[in-house]
Amino acid sequence: MERENQVSAKPESGAEWVGRIQEFVRQNREEIILNIGRLVAVPSTEGTPEEGAPFGPGPRKALDEALKMAREMGLSVGHQDYKMGWAELPGERAEYLATITHLDVVPAGEGWDGDPFVMRRREGWLLGRGVADDKGPSVLCLYALKFLKEAGVPLRYGVRALLGCNEESGMADVPAYLAANPAPVFCFSPDTAFPLCNGEKGHCGLEMAGGPFPKGRILDWEGGVATNAVPDRASALVKADLKALPQREGVTLEQEGEYVRVRGWGKSGHAAMPEGTVNAIWLVGSYLLEQGLCTPEEKAYLEALEKLHRATDGSGLGIAACDGRFDPLTVIGGTMKKMPDGRFVQTLDIRYPTNTGGKKLEEAIQKAVGAAAQVKLKEDAEPFYIEVDAAPIRTLIDTYNQVTGSNEKPFTMGGGTYARNFPLAVSFGPEYPDLQLPAFGGPMHGANEAAQEEGLLQALEIYILALIRLQQLEF
Ligand SMILES: [Zn+2]
Repeated sequence: MERENQVSAKPESGAEWVGRIQEFVRQNREEIILNIGRLVAVPSTEGTPEEGAPFGPGPRKALDEALKMAREMGLSVGHQDYKMGWAELPGERAEYLATITHLDVVPAGEGWDGDPFVMRRREGWLLGRGVADDKGPSVLCLYALKFLKEAGVPLRYGVRALLGCNEESGMADVPAYLAANPAPVFCFSPDTAFPLCNGEKGHCGLEMAGGPFPKGRILDWEGGVATNAVPDRASALVKADLKALPQREGVTLEQEGEYVRVRGWGKSGHAAMPEGTVNAIWLVGSYLLEQGLCTPEEKAYLEALEKLHRATDGSGLGIAACDGRFDPLTVIGGTMKKMPDGRFVQTLDIRYPTNTGGKKLEEAIQKAVGAAAQVKLKEDAEPFYIEVDAAPIRTLIDTYNQVTGSNEKPFTMGGGTYARNFPLAVSFGPEYPDLQLPAFGGPMHGANEAAQEEGLLQALEIYILALIRLQQLEF
């Protein structure tokens, strides 16, 4: 990624702007918060596509509101078929830099202390769906452009604040944008956490199928709702007599005619961070296996599944991998289902480092389980990684460390963000490492989603200064 003529911005560069940036943030503070509230007030979960609203009316309305806001700031705006919008400032060159945030949100869910779509302010925090993910950051990016324009910062590269409308449910907005527009020479996405994420693991989805078992004892087995999460409940219906079966922790049993319903009660969690989770599918499966509630054919399939569920590092399947850049490989079995044709299908979600790949994993798993299960690769996205000493990465991390007075280093992760879809992009903020949420506030995607006002305003300072410094790089 490093280009020979590319040197990172000097640490003192942009210093002449710092005072004005701070003054700008102070003066615009209340207006910024009001504008975040304006976007929170538009419920923008994905809905049924309509004419001019490819992801449903909610995201479209949020885009209209954000573009209106940008025009109020004197910025030019545009959109790609209402899938992705933007505000922009022209530069001397045709190439441009970009930020990318998103205006769609996950559903409100349960457990809120107030209306999720009416932003509340409490003890220095903003509360409401999207304040942190990603409407707050979207407003910050618009204000970053407002500063560049009002202060008359000389721009070699144009700057676009891209506003996606489909980040939470498929990211169909970026391919549509990139198919019709040149890619930015560099892009950062304020959609995860500071300091900076410069790499994401590869991600593949597989299936491990067994059966059909025409004379089997397991009539049904079901667990999980999403392939990318460890399920906390699962159940199987198996030919058995309740009286002959022992109790076990995490498992409940009920007689249903000549069958016993075996339920597992585990601990759910995201596929990218499976540590501490307990997979309910395997609470059920291991019970069936231990109690011999299976035919010899079913037993072989259960033993294949045991290799998957034995460890989330893939050691049971012989696929454990570590490359020194990323955390080690993780694997979880998200859903189990019985298909109409009688086969049982277990899905696998694997997050992998750079020294392996989807095809290789499919082959290795098939080899590990032999004829007891059929393994099939369903989807695969390769890892992406940008060297930590690449000039734009150094420029961003130096800016973050200077403004916050810290000494952080970039990190990598297992989750997927917008960044991997661009030729050269990273995620950069807005959550701070070790920030403690107050008792009344919740995380991104949770109830009472919270963002700290001071943190957001400091992030704006960081983003403005970073955009000024990036102007000095050769792309
Ligand atoms: Zn987000």
